[in-house]
This record gives sequence, C-alpha cells and structure tokens, in this order.
Amino acid sequence: NSVPTLTLNDGNLIPQLGFGVFKVDPAEAERVVTDALEVGYRHIDTAAIYGNEEGVGRAIAASGIPREELFVTTKLWNEDQGFSSTAPALDRSLHRLGLDHVDLYLIHWPVASKGLYVDSWRAMQDLREQGRTRSIGVSNFLESHLQELLDNSDVVPAVDQLELHPAYQQRETTDFARSNGMRVEAWGPLGQGKYPLLEAGVIVAAAEAHGKTPAQAVLRWHLQVGNIVFPKSMHRERIAENFDILDFALTDAEVEALSALDRGGRVGSHPDDVE
Ligand code: NAD
Repeated sequence: NSVPTLTLNDGNLIPQLGFGVFKVDPAEAERVVTDALEVGYRHIDTAAIYGNEEGVGRAIAASGIPREELFVTTKLWNEDQGFSSTAPALDRSLHRLGLDHVDLYLIHWPVASKGLYVDSWRAMQDLREQGRTRSIGVSNFLESHLQELLDNSDVVPAVDQLELHPAYQQRETTDFARSNGMRVEAWGPLGQGKYPLLEAGVIVAAAEAHGKTPAQAVLRWHLQVGNIVFPKSMHRERIAENFDILDFALTDAEVEALSALDRGGRVGSHPDDVE
C-alpha cells in the first residue's frame, strides 16, 4: 500500500499524502520530521514563516533517504513578495533546508492589498526554469486572485493550497482551480483540531465501519475526493495513525455523507485579512 501520486500540470508527480509542520516548534522539528520519515512519509510541507526549515533539513539529511524520493514544499512569506525579493527568499529557505532545490514553492498568501503577487509569480517562473524549485504554485488564492494570475501569465499554478476539510470545502475556489488545471492541496485537513469535526456522526460511523479512527476517515475522504493532504501532529502515534489510511476505502455513500458536511467551518484567516 504505497502513497498514491498525482501528476501536476507541469508533469511532475506529487505524493498525495504528506506531513505538515505548521506550529511545530523549531526545537522539535527535527524529531517530528524524523518520526514522520520513519513512519513512511516522503512529502513534507513547511514554510519560511514556520521558522523550522533548519530542523526539517536536519531530519532529511540524517534520514539518508535519497533526495529524489522526497517531495519538499516551502513557501514565500508575505514580506518577501515582489519580483526582486522572491529569488533571495527562496535561496534563504534552501540554505536553511540544506537543499539545492525544493519540489514545490508556493506564494503563501495573496496579500492583494500590496498588489505584488503577479510580480512574485513572474519571479517564481524564473526559479522553476533555473531548477531551484521543480514546481510552483500558490496558497490561499481565491478565484479573483487566480484569475489575475491567469490573465497575466502563461504559467498556471501547479496547486492552490487552501484551508479545506469536510465542513469547509471552498467549492467555488476548488472548482475554478481544478477546471483550470490546478491540483487542490488541503491545509487544516482535520480542522486544525479547532473545528468539532472528528465528533460528527457520519465521520464516527464511517470510521467504525472500517475499524479506523475519525481522523483516518477524514484523511481518507480527502484522498478519495482528490485532495493532497499533509496532516500535522507532534505525537509519533498520531503521525503513524494519519499515515495508516492506505489499506481501506470509504464507500461512495460514505464519501457523499462526509461531503454533505460542508457548512462553512473556516477556522483560519480569510485570505483578504492576512498582510
Ligand atoms: P491539521 O488539520 O492537520 O490539524 C492538526 C491538529 O489536529 C493537531 O495539532 C492535533 O491537534 C489534531 N490531530 C492531528 N492528528 C490527529 C489525530 N490522528 N486524531 C485527532 N486529532 C489529531 O492542521 P494544520 O497543521 O494547520 O494543517 C496541516 C498542514 O497544512 C500544516 O502543518 C501546514 O503544513 C499546512 N498549512 C498551511 C497553511 C497555509 O496558509 N498555506 C495554513 C495552515 C496550515
């Protein structure tokens, strides 16, 4: 039971299940990423603003896993947006990670108020051509932001990374992204532990039907509806639990029941409120 891969619009492959390190204390990053790699994860999602790229890089180096078997994502922080500041920001991330390239580089938030994301996107295209990142994409971009990129560029983002879980599916944005060839990455795939998701009756029932936990049922739903996910946990047991979702499948009826939970359960920030 290996992790399924999806093909991005640039032809590169991405493992659909990874490990995210938002709010992982820099001092703990090496340990939790080491745990994740030992459990079997090969896709790590970090960001410059998380402050833990060094720990991620140390865990990768110590693992001895061949670079080509890993998929590493990091993100351009808001204050580094702009044509001339984007490349140096990636170089600083690469330095902290101890890598010569990442697999995916994302614009973390649109910050539409500053009006720099189209310029940042042009710089990202150069970085891809130079091989400093294999793929490029965006995060927290709503339809209007995506449309502006499409109007001003020939390169369609490989992914849009959005807050997304069964109770908050952002279908307008995901429909637009998918119909334009982007893959959808779901951040906060478990509702960040803030949204009362894992108690929902249909989730508990689906989990029990398969001898799995509610978190596993939710993560399985993400895979079956085509999302890329990288749940976060600090605990080895849960890190393993969240990876152990490759040996069962929800029925169509269960997938539909989870999909019907969509009711606007945003727990993160609105993209227009992040500067
Ligand atoms: P998540 O939905 O993965 O929630 C993590 C929390 O869920 C944990 O802290 C824990 O409280 C709980 N949890 C984890 N495993 C569990 C289990 N098996 N059973 C019960 N509870 C469990 O939220 P997240 O970490 O915010 O999102 C995942 C990743 O997405 C992040 O680590 C980061 O890489 C990325 N992300 C990106 C953005 C962005 O703006 N692009 C924002 C937030 C997160």
